[in-house]
Amino acid sequence: MRQPIIAGNWKMNGSRDSIRELLDGIKAGMAEVNLAEVAVCAPYVYLADVEQQLTGTKLAWGGQNLSTEASGAYTGEISTAMLLDFHCKYVIVGHSERRSYYGEDDALVAKKFAVARDAGLIPILCIGETLEEREKGITEQVVARQTKAVIDAVGIQALGDGVIAYEPVWAIGTGKTATPQQAQDVHASIRNMIAEHDAGVAAKVRIQYGGSMNAANAAELLAMDDIDGGLIGGASLKASDFLTICKAAG
Ligand code: PEP
Repeated sequence: MRQPIIAGNWKMNGSRDSIRELLDGIKAGMAEVNLAEVAVCAPYVYLADVEQQLTGTKLAWGGQNLSTEASGAYTGEISTAMLLDFHCKYVIVGHSERRSYYGEDDALVAKKFAVARDAGLIPILCIGETLEEREKGITEQVVARQTKAVIDAVGIQALGDGVIAYEPVWAIGTGKTATPQQAQDVHASIRNMIAEHDAGVAAKVRIQYGGSMNAANAAELLAMDDIDGGLIGGASLKASDFLTICKAAG
């Protein structure tokens, strides 16, 4: 059985005070989360605070992006070694906001996946179609292309070392959620496509849903066979909502 994973993506939100309060709230409710693995992906500057507050708890943490370079003259960038210095376990790669606002293409995302995984971080690979692509009926081709770029770069076994987050772009931060069946259909297509390469990897790899998952809709999404957790933006900023989602995952 795949252990569900709920990860909060705080994006560029929070302050030292608000994060302390948020983590206190999450920690206080974690005793009621039985099954799910829970992680938070924080802005870089708060990783030291997050590490300090979460060390010794069941919660894991991670970054939201990384550089493909190891060190040197790359102003504004953060390396895997820096993330590991703060004991990050996870790092998000290829979030749609990185793809659309910062021009990250499939090749760069695949390289980031490879660099993260080689360093011992667990990449959370975000894939998903735009509204235009869904309306054209090419959702499955888009997520297959995005996944295949990583398989081509790192191999199928290495893909299985990561987590995949299916995030329809039209559902991110919009309050519009894919229906459980819409999400399940795409998750199943991703798993089937991976199974064409390796059935064992397809059976074990965790595929999260992301896109306006919240306290009210999480349970029905997480009940679907191929949905193994959630990548949560807005609803991860309120401890009670985030905990409701974590509990809905088991
Ligand atoms: C995300 O940023 O990955 C996300 C899913 O955001 P939201 O939950 O706010 O749609």
